[in-house]
Amino acid sequence: MSFIRTFHGDIDPDELGFTYSHEHIVCRPPYWVEKQVDDLLLDDKEKSQKDVMDFKKLGGQAIVDATAIDYGRDVHAVKEIANETGIKIIGTAGFNKSFLWTAAIPERLKKTTGNYDTFYEWIEDSSINELTDFVIKEIEEGLEGSGIPGGQVKFGTDYNRITPLEEKTLRAVARAHHETKAPIHSHTEAGTMALEQIELLKSEDINLEYMSFGHMDRNPDPFYHEKVAKTGAFLSFDGISKIKYAPESTRIHCILELVKKGFEDQILVSGDTARKSYYKHYDYGLGLENILGKWVPRFIEEANQKGFDGESLIEKFFIHNPKRCFTFKK
Ligand SMILES: [Zn+2]
Repeated sequence: MSFIRTFHGDIDPDELGFTYSHEHIVCRPPYWVEKQVDDLLLDDKEKSQKDVMDFKKLGGQAIVDATAIDYGRDVHAVKEIANETGIKIIGTAGFNKSFLWTAAIPERLKKTTGNYDTFYEWIEDSSINELTDFVIKEIEEGLEGSGIPGGQVKFGTDYNRITPLEEKTLRAVARAHHETKAPIHSHTEAGTMALEQIELLKSEDINLEYMSFGHMDRNPDPFYHEKVAKTGAFLSFDGISKIKYAPESTRIHCILELVKKGFEDQILVSGDTARKSYYKHYDYGLGLENILGKWVPRFIEEANQKGFDGESLIEKFFIHNPKRCFTFKK
C-alpha cells in the first residue's frame, strides 16, 4: 500500500490535504548561531505554533518541514506543535548545503554524527555508504535518533557550483532513496544547478518523478523550468511574497508558463518562511497565513483573468501534487 510518512507515522496519501511543501518551523541553525544572525533563528516554540495555528484556521492541513540536521531543527518542539495543532508534519532526513558545514556540531547531535567537531569534518571523513546509512536511519528509525521519522530525503548544492562534499551527500541521499523509497528534495542556491544535479542523479539511477527541486522561483527562467519539468520532477515555487527577490507577478508568470506547457501536475507552492521577520508572531511578518489568506486569492484572480481555471490549479498545487510528491515509491 502506498503511504506518506509523517511525524505521527504513515498515513494514506489521501489524508494529507492542503499542504505547504517547504517550510521551517522551529530551528537554530548552528551556522547562523555562530554568525549571530538572530533573524534566522526560529527559536520560540510558542510563537512558531501560533503561526501554524493561523495556517490551520484558514484550512491548512499539512506542512513539510524542510529542515535537515545541519540546519539545527528542533524535532521535539516541532512534534509538540504537530500534537497540539493537529497539523500533519513531514520531516526531512539528509543534508542541506556545504557552506553551513563549517559550523560546530552541537553536543546533542554527536550521538548521531560521531565525535566530529564540525559538520564538514563529519561529512569529509565518512564514506558515501556511511552517510547513506545515516540517512536511512533518519527515515526508518527517526530523525537524530528521536524515533520521529523523516518523510523525505534531502541534499543541497551551492550557488552556481556543486562542491565535492555536496556531490558526496547527493550520492548518499540517492542511495538512501533506493533503500527506503522516500521522496527526494533538493536545495538549489538561488535556483541554480538543478540540471547539473539531474545529471548526477541519473548516474545514481534515480527516477526523477520522485524528486522535487526547491527554490525554482529564485531563478525565474521559464526555459530552464521547462528543462527541469521535462524530466518528470516536481518544481517547488517556495519563495512566495519574497518581493525583495522578484515581484509576485514574476512567480505567477513562471507558474502559468509551466501550466501552459502541460506541467501543472508537477508544481508545488510554499513560502520557505525561515526568518523571524517573515513570521507574524515573532516579528510582524506576513506569517504562515499569508499564502492561504492572500496569495491564493490573488493567484486565482490573475490565473482566471488569463483564461486558466485558477481554483483547480490551486487544488493541484496544494493538494493533489503534494499528495503524489510525498508518497513513498512502491
Ligand atoms: Zn528552506
